[in-house]
Amino acid sequence: MADLNAVRPSLLAGSLSPFYVMEVLERAKHLENKGADIIPLEVGEPDFPTAPEVCEAAISSIRSGETFYSPSLGTDALREKISGALNSRYGLNLTAGNVLVTSGSSPALLLAMMCLVNPGDEVVITSPHYACYPGIIRAAGGVPVEVPVYAEENYQIDKARLKKAISPKTAAVVLNSPSNPTGAVLDDSVLEEVCSLGVFVVSDEIYHGLEYGVKSRSVLNHTERAIAVNGFSKLCSMTGWRLGYMVAPRELIRPAQKLQQNLFISPNTFVQAGGVAAVSHVMPRADEIAAVFMERRDAMAGALEGMGLSPCGEPRGAFYIFIKTEEEDSRALAFDILEKTGVATTPGVDFGRGGETHLRLSYANSVENIREGVSRLGDYMKRRG
Ligand code: PMP
Repeated sequence: MADLNAVRPSLLAGSLSPFYVMEVLERAKHLENKGADIIPLEVGEPDFPTAPEVCEAAISSIRSGETFYSPSLGTDALREKISGALNSRYGLNLTAGNVLVTSGSSPALLLAMMCLVNPGDEVVITSPHYACYPGIIRAAGGVPVEVPVYAEENYQIDKARLKKAISPKTAAVVLNSPSNPTGAVLDDSVLEEVCSLGVFVVSDEIYHGLEYGVKSRSVLNHTERAIAVNGFSKLCSMTGWRLGYMVAPRELIRPAQKLQQNLFISPNTFVQAGGVAAVSHVMPRADEIAAVFMERRDAMAGALEGMGLSPCGEPRGAFYIFIKTEEEDSRALAFDILEKTGVATTPGVDFGRGGETHLRLSYANSVENIREGVSRLGDYMKRRG
């Protein structure tokens, strides 16, 4: 007999793909607790502590009683700091009125999609793409449409292929440069070309500042029909603080504010005080931080090449290198590598169809660990033949 009281998740919740890297991470922690020597090359977060100035600012905000709701757009102090910092980095003319602060860039991406997408609208993403885009698009009622990008083309977006994916139902194209998972940086001419198509662009700029030998311009340098999403997690080593923002045309800020009020009320108050300090004390050190990651990128790329495992495309930003493997099932491969070598990697399947048969390696780790991890990985691949 049918159980009338059966509890069933919604179609969306029931059909979302898991974020497999979290499962690798949990297994790695389990093995580590049992005494295994684990080299974590899976995590997408910097290994540096948050700057002391940022911690002090948040602590003193709590001490002075700033423990209540903040304005739903975010505090004026932080919105002004962000618009000022972006104006000086990109030569823009933004005001605080273009900025909405969120609890991480993930909510900013969700609010951006909810502002733009009507039920059944299409949103174009690349393949491979950041793992969470399809779920965010579907949560907003949209349908993700994938445009393949290829290592042989340095993961640049081909205009003709993109044009084919755009239809009257397209609400937006999502760009992510530097890219998670490939580390590719879009050429500015490609960014300009995409913007020239007139389609609305949502640009995930969370890895801006972490570029090696190049400097990205913002989507906002090329078009006003765009939302730029960014946050403090990566460059400022603040993943656990949950602080991000969207920069949008003023017409979209009020609708986004209403969504924020209904869904989240406001971003965290004292965390924003930390954000103000991060803009003042950490962002000016962006080049110094990038230099450390560049040294690690070089160490990982060099070690991989020494093992006959070259990076796919040219990893010029973020802290990831994507490698191709012979194994079809990247999830099974990542778990086997973890069990046999103690090296944790991210299965390419997390990044869509274009990620299958790949692994993502993160170099947000010491040069020593990177060398040891790649050496174990190389030996494993040789044994596998
Ligand atoms: N976009 C990309 C491309 C990312 O890699 C991440 C974090 N892994 C996010 C967005 C979300 O970052 P957060 O919510 O911590 O700001």
